[in-house]
Amino acid sequence: MASLRADDVTVTFGGIRALDGAGFAAGAGRITGLIGPNGAGKSTLFDVVSGLRRPRTGTVVLDGRDITRDTPAQRARRGMARTFQRLELFGRLSVRDNLRVAAELGSRRREAHRIADDLLERIGLTADAGTTADALPTGAARLLEVGRALAGKPGVLLLDEPAAGQDAQETLRFAALLRDIAADGCAVVLVEHDMSLVMSVCDQVHVLDLGKVVAVGPPEEIQQDRTVLAAYLGE
Ligand code: ADP
Ligand code: MG
Repeated sequence: MASLRADDVTVTFGGIRALDGAGFAAGAGRITGLIGPNGAGKSTLFDVVSGLRRPRTGTVVLDGRDITRDTPAQRARRGMARTFQRLELFGRLSVRDNLRVAAELGSRRREAHRIADDLLERIGLTADAGTTADALPTGAARLLEVGRALAGKPGVLLLDEPAAGQDAQETLRFAALLRDIAADGCAVVLVEHDMSLVMSVCDQVHVLDLGKVVAVGPPEEIQQDRTVLAAYLGE
């Protein structure tokens, strides 16, 4: 059962503090939300957690082990997967092949085919299996990106704005998929702007503003928090 925590993370770009002592904790079977206005530092925090950016200060601990200095590949081998705010699909490959290629990174060929078919069903894209990824509407492309991240059966899944571009119907189905992933025991960390999605699926929400966590709590509390409203409204 996976657990992930980041503590006291500081990142500077030139003179600007993108993260200023930020952190969060996520646990198996739970969906942890990370919200905040544009530029708050959410994607940068994911970069630190996934090993793409070395922080100035801070630690990242996965299953009780300090992985702050591990490479992204080492973290992936320990069960961490992530998606990006900007989609990173193989545009010319079919939906099914995008999943199969991802599955082949961690499994035998034969098994990769089976995993790809299971994932197609899980993300609800079986009917689009042969469609080229480039030809997918954004909502479906986002689902495919999540499917690719699931191919390695991660214990920790970091999702950066996975519902951006999804319509209301797709977002509802996506909420069910997220609950299903968590119910499987995965620790899900969700960066998302769609507040109704965040508030309906998250167990715990962390609010980031100007590189700092300004509030932590269950959705019911966060929705009524004055500091949170101020962060969003710039008051
Ligand atoms: P969020 O994902 O919450 O919108 P980001 O983590 O993308 O925020 O950005 C946090 C801050 O860091 C912003 O001020 C952004 O302009 C800055 N930033 C992010 N990446 C870079 C970079 N590679 N170089 C310089 N500044 C950056
Ligand atoms: Mg971002």
